[in-house]
Amino acid sequence: MGKFLNEIEQFIDGNRDNMMRMWEEFVKIETGSNDKAGIDQLAGRIEEILDHEGFETEVRHFDNGGNSIFATKKGTTNKKPICLIGHMDTVFSKGALEKNPFKIEDGKVFGPGALDMKGGIVAAIFALRALNKIGYDEREIRVVFSGDEEVGHKYSETHDDIMAYSRGCEAAFNMETGAMNDGFLTGRKGSVVFKIESYGKAVHSGIDHKSGISAILEIAHKTIEIEKLTDYEKGITFNVGVIQGGDKSNIRPDYATIEVDCRFTKLSHLEEIINAVNAITGTSYVDGAKSTASHRLGFYPMEVTEGNIRLLNTVGEVCEMLGLKKPQANYSGGSSDSSNSVRAGVPTLCGFGVKGEFNHTLQEYALMESLFERSKLLAATITILSDI
Ligand SMILES: [Zn+2]
Repeated sequence: MGKFLNEIEQFIDGNRDNMMRMWEEFVKIETGSNDKAGIDQLAGRIEEILDHEGFETEVRHFDNGGNSIFATKKGTTNKKPICLIGHMDTVFSKGALEKNPFKIEDGKVFGPGALDMKGGIVAAIFALRALNKIGYDEREIRVVFSGDEEVGHKYSETHDDIMAYSRGCEAAFNMETGAMNDGFLTGRKGSVVFKIESYGKAVHSGIDHKSGISAILEIAHKTIEIEKLTDYEKGITFNVGVIQGGDKSNIRPDYATIEVDCRFTKLSHLEEIINAVNAITGTSYVDGAKSTASHRLGFYPMEVTEGNIRLLNTVGEVCEMLGLKKPQANYSGGSSDSSNSVRAGVPTLCGFGVKGEFNHTLQEYALMESLFERSKLLAATITILSDI
């Protein structure tokens, strides 16, 4: 067991400069979710790199969102494949690089997306190079890097594409932002966004107050009722984060709307959540007010499965072999594509990428050393999974 460990460590240690160069190159290609040209450029570059490593790559094109890459390298045995997941887009619009240029200070790497998650992509690429270098070829390896993750795949069908692509795999590793406590995520919440619109009757508030129907009053009642649905024990939260309505203070308002972010832990809760919101939408708290609701699923929850926990334990053993801290199980209210491999029944760990803090802000930074650590850990884990 673990016969490849030294060779993997040597390869990564010998490629530190190359890894840092690639990290810098990737951060310098701006890839905000709405910057298709930038994402496609990075996708093209990664396609070239993976081609060179013997992968069969497929770039899926989307009209409005950045392209995604699906790459496969066949194994020599019939053991189940390994799936690596990531995203190439960032939350930063074009121009962020100028405000926050790529730089390294005190072992911290700065720049838009350095942490979330270009470092993770580089760690994965060099893990694959290390595996090639040592001649590892037992399992098929599948790689998917999407181009519109930060906007919930609104430009593509990538939720289901990742589920389909990872199906049947032994394990999946999402190269997302790594935690500072060295743990890995075994679960994440799912998210659904509701928009409720209420309609009333506009009248002059001074002359004809009584015959008006206030959509704002209706939406205010709904806001309170929706927030009451929060159930911390079940891990279900409702946040009315946006409220709008009315036009002038002397007019009874005939339109008001709220947007509600709901987070939940289990897919089986989704139906009851939708039913509860529909019931509140269908109730008129103000006589004569009418309302409609629509919803959009953001991410499915990454449910905590026994498979995820088993995988965490295996990775913990590899950490010990590499002299790293044994990782704990983390949980996050934020969402990721790990939900899609878990939906496919694949044991999955999330947050396998570079470690750091403050993602989605200009203060975002990643710990430089974690690039090498995570790359070694990923390559070693893949070889050791094969030994078991
Ligand atoms: Zn991310």
